[in-house]
Amino acid sequence: MSRGILENKPTEEDKVLDLTLRPKTWEDYIGQGKVKKSIKVMIEAAKQRKEMPEHLLFYGGPGLGKTSLSYLFAKEMDANLRVTSGPAIERVGDLASILTNLSDGDVLFIDECHRLNKLIEEYLYPAMEDFKLNIVLGKGPMARTMELKIPNFTLIGATTRLALLSSPLRDRFGAVFQLDFYKPEDLEKIIQHSVEVLEIKIEPEAVKIIAQRSRFTPRVVNRLLKRVRDWAQVEGKGIITKDIARSSLDFLEIDKQGLEVGDRKILETIIKKFDGGPVGLQNLAAASGEEQDTILDVYEPYLLQLGFIQRIPRGRIATKLAYQHLGIKYTGTQTLL
Ligand code: ADP
Repeated sequence: MSRGILENKPTEEDKVLDLTLRPKTWEDYIGQGKVKKSIKVMIEAAKQRKEMPEHLLFYGGPGLGKTSLSYLFAKEMDANLRVTSGPAIERVGDLASILTNLSDGDVLFIDECHRLNKLIEEYLYPAMEDFKLNIVLGKGPMARTMELKIPNFTLIGATTRLALLSSPLRDRFGAVFQLDFYKPEDLEKIIQHSVEVLEIKIEPEAVKIIAQRSRFTPRVVNRLLKRVRDWAQVEGKGIITKDIARSSLDFLEIDKQGLEVGDRKILETIIKKFDGGPVGLQNLAAASGEEQDTILDVYEPYLLQLGFIQRIPRGRIATKLAYQHLGIKYTGTQTLL
C-alpha cells in the first residue's frame, strides 16, 4: 500500500496526475529558484545568439521535478520534447531511430541516463558534439562506417545518481543542475496549486500536515493529496480537514516526519541488527529485504536529510535522533571511525 507512495518510478496513476498537475508555466514551477533562473538565462542567451542551447544534465531524487523542468525548457524554446530513458535504448538502432526522427531544434530528454549502456554512449558522443551518427554497416573486413547527419537538438539528461554517470558523458553536458529537496512552504504552494486544479476543498492546517509528511518531494505531495482526498470523500464530508489529513496519513503509516514503513525498517535494521551501525549497503539491503537501488534513491537521501542516519567510510550509522524518533534507548556505542 504505502509502497505506492514511495514508488520511485512514476506509476500509471502518476502519469494521469502528471498530465493534470505538471507545471505548465514557470510560475507554476515552484521553488528551485537558482536552477530556474540559470536555465532562463541560458535560453535567453541562446535565443539572442540564434544558437542551440548547450546540453543539460539534471540530477536529483525521483519526483523532484526533472521531467517537469524539461517540459518547461522545451516550451520556452518553442521546441518539441521527445522523452525516452537510458534502459529503453537497448540497441544502436534504437538510438539511430530516435535521433534521425528528431526535427531541428527539438529537445531530447533521456531519463535515467546513468543506465545507458556503454556502447550506446559511444554513439551518443558525436551526436552530442557534432550532430552526426557514425553507423557501422556490415561486419569484419567488409565493415564500413557511414556518417549520418542528424538534426540539431538539445539533450537533457536526467539522473538520480550522478556518480554512476561515466565521465566522458558527463563532460559533454554544458551545464549540470542539481535539484534539491523542497522547503515546506514551497510544498504548501504546490498543494495549493493542485487543490485548485483538482477542485479539492481543504483546510489550511491540513495543507501543512500533508506538506510535513511528504518527504520534501512534489511527487509525494501530490500522491498524498490524492489519498487524503479519497479518505475525505469516503470517511468525511468531502472536505480535507486537519483530522482527516492526520487520520488518513496515520492509517497509511506515514508518520509525523514523513517516514513510512520502509524507512523505519531501515532504521530498525541498523539499530537492532547492527547495533546502530556502521553497516554497508549490501548487508543493509539483505537484512532489511529492500533493494539496494531503492535504499540509495529513496530511503537514504531522506533519512540523511532528516539527520537520522550518517554515512561514514565504513557504512551507515543511525544517529541519536533516529533512536529518539523510534523510541529506542540510545546506547551511544557506535564508532564514527
Ligand atoms: P522527476 O522527473 O524528477 O522524477 P517530475 O518532474 O516527473 O519529477 O515531477 C513529478 C510531479 O511532481 C510533476 O508531475 C508535478 O506535478 C510535480 N512537481 C515536480 N516539481 C514541481 C515544482 N517545482 N512545482 C510544482 N510541481 C512540481
